[in-house]
Amino acid sequence: MLKTILRRITDHIIYMPHDDHTDRPILASISGANLTLGIDAGNSSVHANLFLQELAKHNEKKIDFLVLTHWHWDHVFGCSRMNLPIISHVGTQEQLVKLQGLAWTDEALDERVKAGSEIPFCAEMIKKEFPTHRDIRIETPSIVFEQKLELDLGGVNCLIEHVGGDHSSDSCIVYVKEDKVLFLGDCLYPDYYNGDWKYTTQNVLVLLDRLQTYDADHYIISHRDPLTKAEFQQEADFYRKISTLLGQHGNDHSAICAGLSHFIGRALIEEELFIVDWFVNGFKMNQPNDN
Ligand SMILES: [Zn+2]
Repeated sequence: MLKTILRRITDHIIYMPHDDHTDRPILASISGANLTLGIDAGNSSVHANLFLQELAKHNEKKIDFLVLTHWHWDHVFGCSRMNLPIISHVGTQEQLVKLQGLAWTDEALDERVKAGSEIPFCAEMIKKEFPTHRDIRIETPSIVFEQKLELDLGGVNCLIEHVGGDHSSDSCIVYVKEDKVLFLGDCLYPDYYNGDWKYTTQNVLVLLDRLQTYDADHYIISHRDPLTKAEFQQEADFYRKISTLLGQHGNDHSAICAGLSHFIGRALIEEELFIVDWFVNGFKMNQPNDN
């Protein structure tokens, strides 16, 4: 059997894992009896091509159309290589049209970082993914929706739904009903684009309430390995606990960490400390300025 980097979640769903080296998200393919839906286009033609080649090599079905989880570069720069009809939220389409007017040279990226319209992390990753030739052509989605869209792929039904959240207001999830798989894109990540990285307690709680209404066995977050239902539940509880502790202790970082540590029964790891930082940043931002 040929070796592959693809991984199968269910009979209908296969994905290519994320690659943090240049911030490549998970790309996935969902096949019904009649149609195959791709999720996200990847961060470059090279990334998109790798996925398409792997699918072909292993006789997987060809993708018929693509859905974008949100407009960020790492999910959309592969669209031109995919050369497929694109489905997106109307907000994603609006943002992509704006990106079409931008230049992607080192100088242009550096200028936008200086002006605050691009973040250093993305500029650095774009330079790394495209060390020489930047063949970046931003496509316009041809099928847009505002709230939700249901697709019957032939015995496999996908619900694409707009959920928003701090990370990107156009964020959508894809729920594969028969397979009980929920693709979350980046919707649970913090807001990277407006100063210090942050979570807004209210937004996170609304989002978690929404996400926890889906009956899923697998939770696919774009830049991580898939989570089981129990793992997702545990993370949701962790986020909810931080929100409660913020309400009790305000922005007292060490009191929040002590409460959390007590809650999970061990010391916090670095990643968890960052999450607390992002909540505290959001909390501070929502306080009236007392100067
Ligand atoms: Zn993103």
